[in-house]
Amino acid sequence: MRLKTKLIIGLGFLFIVILVFGILSIASINRLKDNATYVLKNNYVTLEYNNNMLEALNRLPADTSAWKVFEDNLRRQETNITERGEADATRTLREAFTNYKRKPGDSISHNTILKSLQFINHLNQQAILQKSEIANTASETANTWLTLIFTILAIIALTLVVNFPSVIGGPIQSLSEGISAIAGKDYKKRIHLKQKDEFGDLANAFNTMAEKLDEYEHSNLAKIKFEKSRIETIINKMTDAIIGFDEKRNILFMNAVAESLLNLKEKDVAGRYAPDIALKNDLLRKLLQDTDKEELKIYADNKESYFDKEKIVMKNEDQVIGEVIVLQNITPFHELDEAKTNFIATVSHELKTPISSILMSAKLLDDERVGAINNEQKELVHHIKEDSERLLKITGELLNLTQVEAGKIQLAFQPVKPEEIVRYAIDANKAQAEQQKIFIEKKLPVSIPAVNADKEKTSWVLTNLIANAIRYSFEESKIIVEAEHKDKTVVFSVKDFGKGIDSKYRDRIFDRYFRVPGTKEEGTGLGLAICREFIEAQGGKIWVESDYGEGSKFSFWLPAA
Ligand code: ADP
Repeated sequence: MRLKTKLIIGLGFLFIVILVFGILSIASINRLKDNATYVLKNNYVTLEYNNNMLEALNRLPADTSAWKVFEDNLRRQETNITERGEADATRTLREAFTNYKRKPGDSISHNTILKSLQFINHLNQQAILQKSEIANTASETANTWLTLIFTILAIIALTLVVNFPSVIGGPIQSLSEGISAIAGKDYKKRIHLKQKDEFGDLANAFNTMAEKLDEYEHSNLAKIKFEKSRIETIINKMTDAIIGFDEKRNILFMNAVAESLLNLKEKDVAGRYAPDIALKNDLLRKLLQDTDKEELKIYADNKESYFDKEKIVMKNEDQVIGEVIVLQNITPFHELDEAKTNFIATVSHELKTPISSILMSAKLLDDERVGAINNEQKELVHHIKEDSERLLKITGELLNLTQVEAGKIQLAFQPVKPEEIVRYAIDANKAQAEQQKIFIEKKLPVSIPAVNADKEKTSWVLTNLIANAIRYSFEESKIIVEAEHKDKTVVFSVKDFGKGIDSKYRDRIFDRYFRVPGTKEEGTGLGLAICREFIEAQGGKIWVESDYGEGSKFSFWLPAA
């Protein structure tokens, strides 16, 4: 049965109970009231008339006003006949009264009147008694019926009241238990209700929903598991070492390469606090240090290996959920780089001697003492000299670079007067400056301390800076070469009034092979990189200040001796 029908029947029944009980009660009360009214109205009024007549009779015949009182009451009595025999008695009374009127004081008529009145009184008293008994019986009957009906209806209503809450409460409790189970991700939960009402429909809908959720959960889980194993396979097959940490720095995973590098097993350390493990693991300690990018030298595969450490922060909607450290094995690049450096070193070294001898031969040819040559030949010799010098410069730079790259800069520290370095560098560039009609101004205070430096390398640096200044200056301009004493250092600087350097390239000009795009003058892009290596190797610092379009000032300082 539908819940709606049950509710209609239950409430309808209660309505009928109230209705039936109300109608019965009203009917019973009305019947009792009618009886009582009837008794009062007719019989009681008769008794009153009789009393009035008796009283009037007692005053007769002396009191003449009593005749009228008697007559009036008798007339009323004649219109209020209710009981059997009352009519005859009243008629007798009328006759006796008529006779008494005719013969006042007649004892026979007087007696008849008295008897008639007594008889009528008796009749009405009897009637009152009888009707009160009837009323009593009626009230008792009504009472019995009402009690019976009330008991039956009360039992039915009680049964309803006792059973109805469980009709609704039971299924609601089952449903709420089911919903709680679903909220707790127990998608296996089902509700079994026998009723075929709305609750039954609701339970079926709930079960369908739980089934769908269960299916979804399983398909999702399977998908996640599949994705996880795919990613694990990828991570494990990678040649880079990968280690994952959660936001509290507990180790989440590490691939096979990381296991062998760190000499740890993922199953032993997964879920453990990384800094605790790092206490006994030097490499892990290094990895946990707060550097985002770093090159590490690690002994792996029975040789010195190089790894590029990169830290990647994992985020989920702006919230940091951990980090991954990737160690990329860059040993092959290092080996290639080393091979390249060796190759450049060998080639430059091998080229240096023949180029020097070409230059020497060219110089001899140019010397008149060796023999006269015509102007065209002179021109050719001049070109040979120029190109040889440039080749010698390049091989020199390349050789210096190989020293830098191999980390083998050999320094011979000694106290050197700044003046010596400045003079050497200016002299080396004199010819070139004259050719471009550039004036080199030298600013050197008389009392300047010596520097503790490698004379040859520092001179090379200053020579290079002046050469650049000349190369990147306009004709007929000026270059200022200066050395000054500052704190415990000597600062050397070369200022030109050439085209200057665009601010976006200023940081990069000290990088190897970097040349400002659009630079037409010939060059390798190595000069400034080597300068920086030489100066920093000696404990100094090199920098540039430049206003684009107005010139540049290259400076470096070295510790005073
Ligand atoms: P190279 O001069 O052989 O190209 P460098 O390392 O000496 O290599 O210089 C790198 C670049 O810096 C040059 O290509 C040039 O663009 C720029 N540069 C160096 N010195 C100056 C200077 N004095 N004025 C303007 N640009 C310069």
